[in-house]
Amino acid sequence: MSCSRLQLTLAILKPDVTARPHIVKEIKSMILRKKFYFVESKKMKLAQSEIETFYKEHEGKFFHNRLVNFMNSGSIWAHILAREDCIKEWRKLMGPTKVLKTVFEEPNSIRGKFGLTDTRNCTHGSDSEETAKREIKLFFPEFDEEKWRANDEDYFINKK
Ligand code: GDP
Ligand code: MG
Repeated sequence: MSCSRLQLTLAILKPDVTARPHIVKEIKSMILRKKFYFVESKKMKLAQSEIETFYKEHEGKFFHNRLVNFMNSGSIWAHILAREDCIKEWRKLMGPTKVLKTVFEEPNSIRGKFGLTDTRNCTHGSDSEETAKREIKLFFPEFDEEKWRANDEDYFINKK
């Protein structure tokens, strides 16, 4: 198994999911069924300043305060996922941002099945390779992508 053709993304399970442990389990199974690898995982509680940095692009939008308060309301799971076409495939598995669209158009996506509102919509996924690099660095500053790519099989064997 070679890591060279695998793409990475940052995936987050938001506080509405971590508050429902059986859904955490279900989402992790959905991720594995779609052939993603969990490269790194951690459960953490973000500080307000980290949330504001992470969601800087949405500053000034009507939902920004709601979003920051929500992300501050509990812990999250942060994951680095790997797969071919990982960024697109993870966003596909998440489903659309808005809850009504998910329910009518992608009912079997994560957000379609478990999304509560437009704010409390279960998951985050990077939206481009550039974003993924930046977001992975933010959440996993110690992660060394080059080393991971160079050590492919060892890396996975040692993790399991
Ligand atoms: P994503 O990439 O699909 O997560 O969507 P965006 O990057 O556009 O927005 C980031 C997050 O802000 C979303 O996942 C939602 O939690 C929240 N959000 C985005 N658009 C809206 C909206 O129209 N209303 C509300 N209440 N929240 C929103
Ligand atoms: Mg986004």
